Amino acid sequence: MNSNHFSTPSLTDSFGREVNYLRLSVTDRCNLRCTYCMAEDMTFLPKQQILSLEELRDTATAFVELGVRKIRLTGGEPLIRRDILKLVGSLASLPGLDELTMTSNGVMLPKMAQPLKDAGLSRINISIDSLKPERFKALTRVGDLDEVLAGIRAAGAADFKRVKLNAVILAGFNDDEVLDLARFAVDNQMDISFIEEMPLGEISSHNRANTKVSSEQIRQQLETEFKLRDSAETTGGPSRYARVANSDCKIGFISPMSNNFCSSCNRVRLTAEGRLLLCLGNEHSLDLREILRSYPGDSERLKTSIVRAMANKPERHYFDAEQTDIVRFMNMTGG
Ligand code: SAM
Ligand code: SF4
Repeated sequence: MNSNHFSTPSLTDSFGREVNYLRLSVTDRCNLRCTYCMAEDMTFLPKQQILSLEELRDTATAFVELGVRKIRLTGGEPLIRRDILKLVGSLASLPGLDELTMTSNGVMLPKMAQPLKDAGLSRINISIDSLKPERFKALTRVGDLDEVLAGIRAAGAADFKRVKLNAVILAGFNDDEVLDLARFAVDNQMDISFIEEMPLGEISSHNRANTKVSSEQIRQQLETEFKLRDSAETTGGPSRYARVANSDCKIGFISPMSNNFCSSCNRVRLTAEGRLLLCLGNEHSLDLREILRSYPGDSERLKTSIVRAMANKPERHYFDAEQTDIVRFMNMTGG
């Protein structure tokens, strides 16, 4: 991958923010049912509404030609998409793309980690919210912790640049595991980010107003055991990082509720059905599937539409844990 191929980025929004990061959801389906992400009974999109492999590749190519340097594949669970290795292979070789990454729940990584690495994936984030088997099952409704632990080991063995773990912390569910999760990451020489739950999609398993835990509260817990030193490092996403003393690990804090990071937002998202979402917390969007299917092969039209859409990127999100204004579930847009 050659980072100097395109020197002038052309995706800039009306607040002067440069967009150089695309999160690409390749499916809305998942083999888990995390309580904070999905309702118990979900209806998924019919296959013909999901972007095909070619449509995903054409869209990603357009974004990279417009200056996007990093693409994260997500979902739903990206690894349940049958042609995922083909997609990784074709995106990894796009001239101008610096990093192709993925967020996964880890269940399929024992088989897929090495093939993903071989196909050109640079980094991987794996979500794990509990190290207690019973609790893990309750949080994911169906998940088997051992499978995810095996997936994490497989990712470690596949020699990705760096494996990062992601944990959403919910009061009363797993807020007593912050230290255990951090220790697990440090012991395995991985990084970990703690995420504040966002009010995306109407759920019935818990009241989000009662499960709120701020990044600051998480950090206070961590500081009872770890010496943390703030770091200006970035992986191009919303995490603010701290280095853990006497280790090579960093701990990230993703704080969509308590600390608005919108002023430095460099991201847009493409939903599995091809809707270009300009902000996770707003509904401003553009139907790229309509353009892809009405004008197949017309990459100039696609790029012009993407450039114009930037004018609609909202300045910021206003999340309120008491209220679900965004009815879209997280599996639609990806994390
Ligand atoms: N299935 C993959 C996984 O779980 O890693 C990728 C998709 S998942 C939607 C991406 C990330 O979003 C995960 O780390 C998940 O924990 C997080 N997530 C899901 N729903 C969320 C919510 N309501 N608030 C905050 N994070 C959420
Ligand atoms: Fe699936 Fe990821 Fe959502 Fe959990 S967070 S239900 S693993 S998409």
